Amino acid sequence: MAITTKDLQHLFALIAADIAAQRDHLCELDGAIGDGDHGLAMDAGCEAAAKAVGALDPAQIAPTAVFNAAAKAFLNAVGASSGPLYATAFMRAGAAVKDRPELSDDDFLRAFAAMAQGIQERGKAEPGEKTMVDAWKPAADAALDAWQPGTTFPQCFEMAERAARQGCEATRNMTAAKGRASRLGGRAVGHIDPGAASAVIVIAAIAKFVEQHDG
Ligand code: ADP
Ligand code: MG
Repeated sequence: MAITTKDLQHLFALIAADIAAQRDHLCELDGAIGDGDHGLAMDAGCEAAAKAVGALDPAQIAPTAVFNAAAKAFLNAVGASSGPLYATAFMRAGAAVKDRPELSDDDFLRAFAAMAQGIQERGKAEPGEKTMVDAWKPAADAALDAWQPGTTFPQCFEMAERAARQGCEATRNMTAAKGRASRLGGRAVGHIDPGAASAVIVIAAIAKFVEQHDG
């Protein structure tokens, strides 16, 4: 079943609620190896994005404009490095589904993969550098690899979520090569990356959305 602007409004609300519920936990993670604001940044950004998207008229607005509105709102609400990273992700998702009045499963998967690629290109982080890329890239790769005959769309996102969780857990043993935590050298080892942890929450919310929609 096609994913409409109304569905995307629901998706952004889901993401915002799940991030809000983990706000303090994300701040604690960032407190260990960063400046402690990651939960506040993600909460403000996701809340602003959900609000901007929720205010659009679904009868008038196509998915690309939904993602663009989310990008703009997220960027305006967030001063931390996660701001431009997620703003780029949402812009790329919008560009990936340009001119589509609603999204097929293929379109939605392309938008999801474009988010991961946008984050990677904007931040210039490679996997293994202890950033949100360590959750986003394996998640996108897993979903793309899984999207084969015999696998349902919700199963693809289940695999994406699982890959994101594993990728996030793997950041624990990494030293950081990008972002604030890179200043800590070996002292960052033993802590998971807060941006990877929030990425898991976002990706899990997307998986839940797909399950509700298609499952
Ligand atoms: P700030 O470090 O400015 O306070 P946040 O606390 O919102 O920003 O976000 C920190 C997270 O941003 C890190 O945990 C990491 O996952 C992510 N991050 C930082 N720099 C990069 C980068 N260059 N590429 C990808 N992700 C990054
Ligand atoms: Mg921070």
